Amino acid sequence: MKQIILTGDRPTGRLHVGHYVGSLKERVRLQNSGAYDEIYIMIADAQALTDNAEHPEKVRQNIMQVALDYLACGLEPEKSCIFIQSMVPQLTELSFYYMNLVTVSRLQRNPTVKAEIKQKNFETSIPVGFFCYPISQAADITAFQATAVPAGEDQEPMLEQTREIVRKFNDLYGETLTEPKIVLPSNQACLRLPGIDGKAKMSKSLGNCIYLSDEPEDVKKKIMSMFTDPTHLRRDDPGHTENNPVFIYLEAFSRPEHFTKFLSDYQNLDELKAHYERGGLGDVTVKKFLNNVMQAELAPIRERRKEWEQRLPEVKEILRAGSEKAEKKAAETLYAVRNAMQINYF
Ligand code: ATP
Ligand code: MG
Repeated sequence: MKQIILTGDRPTGRLHVGHYVGSLKERVRLQNSGAYDEIYIMIADAQALTDNAEHPEKVRQNIMQVALDYLACGLEPEKSCIFIQSMVPQLTELSFYYMNLVTVSRLQRNPTVKAEIKQKNFETSIPVGFFCYPISQAADITAFQATAVPAGEDQEPMLEQTREIVRKFNDLYGETLTEPKIVLPSNQACLRLPGIDGKAKMSKSLGNCIYLSDEPEDVKKKIMSMFTDPTHLRRDDPGHTENNPVFIYLEAFSRPEHFTKFLSDYQNLDELKAHYERGGLGDVTVKKFLNNVMQAELAPIRERRKEWEQRLPEVKEILRAGSEKAEKKAAETLYAVRNAMQINYF
């Protein structure tokens, strides 16, 4: 069986470091591993419109921003087909057929949808399109016959919903669609990176992000203002590292060579944590170290992004060509789907 990846992001803002550790970094690794026959990376503009219908210009502008972030992180258009969701109309048609295979109560039970309805204050006025986005996500994944979806932990309920749709479709109409698996980052801290406020997951909609394109001074300001352990008031107080955003970020980003380079009193994160938990280690020292670590990680990405910013017509052409290629693949699946449903009339 062919190994195929489909994944993507909503163009609701520039991408942040949560995207990076939760999904982007893994995609680049898989892209370069050579283990996949086809890779599709989707900029989900139609999905973004389900909760941004009043702001199509915001979605349109961010398509380019997300594309720049992709290229900056090392996605290569020769290996990964980058495309725009709404330029592949077959996805909408597939969604329409899949809607018949899902109940309203099943959608209501989807924990990610539940959390997002609350977060967006949609309780009494959920747009139907938003409510149905897990179905459209199933269409996106299955249209490419994806076997693997590298994504953050919040996407697991979407994948479960997709697998249910695949099983239902194949039961009813015969083996046509492929069941996908989620590929989560192996590092626990990367599954759902918290925002700099330490409350919820880092999310474009919550304004608690460090963006991949932030300038070094902004990254520093954000890190120095981060929440830490509220019980660690004085330097000598014993501190907690669990649920402490600064330590979660260090788990996600730091490597042994960062210690040699920036904080040579400690060999690794375990030693730093032990000192913080014992007491006697100030938040400022830890934050300064985190700043050095993140600056080192983000500098090459920022540099590559600036280079691509000078080549916007090329970026647009990458998206056009990618969308054309994606449409061909989705059309093949749609043809098979209509055949299976026996609705290819002529
Ligand atoms: P929005 O607020 O518009 O929903 P978002 O910040 O949640 O934006 P998405 O485009 O919904 O970003 O997510 C894209 C991908 O990035 C998904 O695979 C998701 O799991 C992953 N992701 C998003 N935020 C995080 C995070 N804080 N930690 C780990 N992975 C994340
Ligand atoms: Mg999201």
